[in-house]
Amino acid sequence: MITRFAPSPTGPLHLGHAYSALLGADLARAAGGQFLLRIEDLDRERSKPEWEAAIHEDLRWLGIDYPRPVWRQSERLPAYEAALARLDEMGLLYPCGCNRAEIRAALSAPQEGDPPHGPDGLIYPGTCRHRSMADRRPGDALRLDIQKAVQATAKYLEFTEDGDGSGVQRRAAADLITGAGDIVLARRQTGAIAYHLAVVVDDAAQGVTLVTRGRDLSDATPLHVLLQHLLGLPTPRYHHHRLIRDAQGKRLAKRHDAEAIQLYRERGATPQDIRALVGL
Ligand code: GLU
Repeated sequence: MITRFAPSPTGPLHLGHAYSALLGADLARAAGGQFLLRIEDLDRERSKPEWEAAIHEDLRWLGIDYPRPVWRQSERLPAYEAALARLDEMGLLYPCGCNRAEIRAALSAPQEGDPPHGPDGLIYPGTCRHRSMADRRPGDALRLDIQKAVQATAKYLEFTEDGDGSGVQRRAAADLITGAGDIVLARRQTGAIAYHLAVVVDDAAQGVTLVTRGRDLSDATPLHVLLQHLLGLPTPRYHHHRLIRDAQGKRLAKRHDAEAIQLYRERGATPQDIRALVGL
């Protein structure tokens, strides 16, 4: 069994990260498996070396060890490009130059109420879907044509959920047409690879058999299974864990610096205190 903790170095690790990392390390130890750290630094603007160094420091302090060298997504671009090329060969990609304002304008037309949202926010209305890859211009994003992608895969997408013990999850692939839409796989302007693509490529390349991560990502999992099918990659098991909340019941985010592990440490907390705080 191989599991992993995959933080983005865009801020301090907080109690929610500590829970995720400790849980993954505990699960690996209990199974006689391996625990990996992976640095998800695809957002070049927000990722900082000092936050990456702090991740290592916090994990060491928590008593969590992992093999070196640690993979960084910023060093994996050729693997993601190869995955994009495969999807392109299958005719599943198209270039898109729409910015946020244009997408909003296209969505706000006659519908009532809020436009539908997916794992990446607003569902793209498909304005550029008719464009071909031959007509890709510098600065264009690349989107997955979800209707074609769904036609190219099995009718049902399945994965095993260990987190709440609910077992095999089965979702109609067609639900992704309205539930996710034509997601971006390479971003506009920067060409940065999207998380959804990088995560499935890396989990497979590292031989991850159990993905341990927060429940906030369980909605994105059918999309990840779809990408695994299209790319011929295995689907790991998933352990989506509960989210750690602050005193007001809000999910912790990077901006919750008050809950940063480093601050607990400076105030004299021990790793055992952190375990107790997150309910381990
Ligand atoms: N890099 C993601 C984050 O920091 C985690 C992704 C994952 O575990 O699949 O939220």
